[in-house]
Amino acid sequence: MRALIAEDDPVSRHLLEAMLVKWGYTVVVATNGSEAWGILNGEDAPRLAILDWMMPDMDGLQVCKEIRKQTDRPYIYILLLTARSGKQDIVEGMTAGADDYIAKPFNSHELKVRLRAGRRIIELQAELMSARAELQEQATHDALTGLPNRLLFSDRLTQRLALARRSQQALAVMFLDLDRFKIINDTLGHNVGDGLLKQVAERLGECLREVDTLARMGGDEFTVILGDVTCPQDAVFVADRVLEALSEPFNVDSHELYISASIGISLFPTHGSDVETLVKNADTAMYRAKEGGRNRYQIYSEPLNVVTSTRLEMESGLRRAIEKEELVLHYQPRVSLKTGETVGVEALIRWQHPDLGLLPPDQFLPMAEETGLIIPVSEWALRAACVQNKAWQSAGYPPLDISVNVSTCQLQQSSFVETVQQALEQASLEPRYLSLELTEGALISNPDMVGDILRKLKEMMVRVSIDDFGVGHSSLSYLKRFLIDSVKIDRSFVQNITSDPDDAAIAGAIVAMAHSLKLKVIAEGVETLEQLEFLRSLNCDEMQGYFVSRPVPAEAFVHLLEEARRPKSGGFASAA
Ligand code: C2E
Ligand code: CA
Ligand code: CA
Repeated sequence: MRALIAEDDPVSRHLLEAMLVKWGYTVVVATNGSEAWGILNGEDAPRLAILDWMMPDMDGLQVCKEIRKQTDRPYIYILLLTARSGKQDIVEGMTAGADDYIAKPFNSHELKVRLRAGRRIIELQAELMSARAELQEQATHDALTGLPNRLLFSDRLTQRLALARRSQQALAVMFLDLDRFKIINDTLGHNVGDGLLKQVAERLGECLREVDTLARMGGDEFTVILGDVTCPQDAVFVADRVLEALSEPFNVDSHELYISASIGISLFPTHGSDVETLVKNADTAMYRAKEGGRNRYQIYSEPLNVVTSTRLEMESGLRRAIEKEELVLHYQPRVSLKTGETVGVEALIRWQHPDLGLLPPDQFLPMAEETGLIIPVSEWALRAACVQNKAWQSAGYPPLDISVNVSTCQLQQSSFVETVQQALEQASLEPRYLSLELTEGALISNPDMVGDILRKLKEMMVRVSIDDFGVGHSSLSYLKRFLIDSVKIDRSFVQNITSDPDDAAIAGAIVAMAHSLKLKVIAEGVETLEQLEFLRSLNCDEMQGYFVSRPVPAEAFVHLLEEARRPKSGGFASAA
């Protein structure tokens, strides 16, 4: 251990030096206070200092005070050497920051013991520092992948933004979310999931450049700060490389795993100038990439808040559509895969537009969501569906369970349960013949409120189904928390169920897990006999899709019901 001896009296200095050398210290000497301060303030300063109180230039106390002002340097243990050993002197010395003192004349044994105590404290200090550094590391890094976490990511992005602003450079934020990772986690277990995340992190790192920062936001979400982005094409280039790198199979615990990702990109300054906005917009773009079919990237684009005339016209048109009775419901049968019987029907909204013809929901519901019109529009659909279902029952057809789609906005209304109740009462429809279709997003957005709503619906005997299951972020184990009757496997899985082993495996896993949770499984978008057979082999309960019938107007649906009354052998009447 290195020690500094600062003492102006040559006799004591030599004596001290001789003792310390004998005890194994490497000694540095100073003959006055400012020399001592120079050494202690310099590079590689000794961690132990014996300072004489009375020295020319700067006395020992002043040196002490200066050292203690520096909080960001390794701790220096100070032993004050003094002929003044009155109580008041000791207090003064300690107050200045000395750790201990020794009175002149001192005996060598006492000095040795005091130095030993000092060394112990220096060791403890070092341990404390490394523990603190480790904590700091934990607070700013993700334990699984070792990548910066959300906190450090925000910090770095803040710094990079300041720099980019000063140098007038552009920057991009990439938000990446693995597709269907939840399913791997749920079916193969968390160890495999963790192993996969680690490997994904490594591969992502390989795709990036020195100027980029990769972070893990949690779960299967990663973010990247892309520096040196002069045009959007630069970011696209990286995104492409990432998607390609992820398309190679992963090997985790001898499972060969295929995974893809959806990537959203936002650009500074075009899409925002602060951390929050840039991340939010990249996230929004990521969702669009998911909606667009996954395994792709999407650059953020501003929603249409520029009011174009057609948009305005559409909006006011939709406002009036309810009164003018331009909204219509089409109906698609839901068929049992066991018996081939029609057991239910989904009501799907359309707008009979005076100029534009029959509009599918995706041409007006997004606008309705943005303007709040989704509430009256969806409520209209709910009421109309209940009335229609009752009408079929009154006409003597076997009772069906009617599914109505509920938008996430509706569930934010405190009056939602009441609205359902009123719709049922007005139509005199028994609640058990109504099934509401919610999306995973609705559950996640406000789990407490939605949990409450679902409890009330359950009490009323209204059924609840999770629509488009598999595309969102929740897992079946998450759904356990909610009172749900069934899940609908999203069309995108059914589409390739007979050609893509991944989709087949996912559908199989959904059916098995849903059944273990006592949930019914409905497959949507079944278009071919092969798909139907395959789903039946998986033990899926019900199906919907063009193979049996497209959604049709109420009048046409009656014909389907007529046919269903006379089930043919083989069971499936096709109107496609
Ligand atoms: P969704 O609930 O997932 O409805 C299923 C969609 O798949 C329907 O599209 C249906 O026509 C279509 N489909 C059914 N079978 C097949 C098939 O075999 N192949 C293919 N390719 N497609 C099939 P649609 O009617 O255009 O509805 C789109 C979405 O609009 C619905 O998705 C639902 O989220 C929403 N929606 C429809 N009606 C309402 C409503 O009354 N209220 C609310 N809030 N949303 C609605
Ligand atoms: Ca639906
Ligand atoms: Ca669906």
